[in-house]
Amino acid sequence: MSEYFKPEEFECHCGCGEKDVNPKLVELLNRIRESFDKPITIMSGRRCKAHNTKVGGAKESQHVLGNAADIQVKGVEPDDVQEYLMKHFDDDCKGLGRYRSFTHIDVREGKIARWNG
Ligand SMILES: [Zn+2]
Ligand SMILES: [Zn+2]
Repeated sequence: MSEYFKPEEFECHCGCGEKDVNPKLVELLNRIRESFDKPITIMSGRRCKAHNTKVGGAKESQHVLGNAADIQVKGVEPDDVQEYLMKHFDDDCKGLGRYRSFTHIDVREGKIARWNG
């Protein structure tokens, strides 16, 4: 299995330097990357609390816990990304949210969550 993502790609966008994420998330992203065989851009990974509030993230955001990533798969619409992930990675993507320009995935503890943003 190749390692497709650098730690810096998960860094909080506010400049605070926080970039630690759950290794399970990185492992899952690597498998998704390999499966699509297309470049994946991390739009948002780790967020500190302040930045999460600023971007309007949920109060208990999985991004703050380092469990989540918002991704874009090159040349694939978020609709199709979500559908693909539900088909092939349904057990692994605990949280899976479709937005207009990206797909949110997370490896939260507990119940599976699916939504359209
Ligand atoms: Zn920050
Ligand atoms: Zn997200």
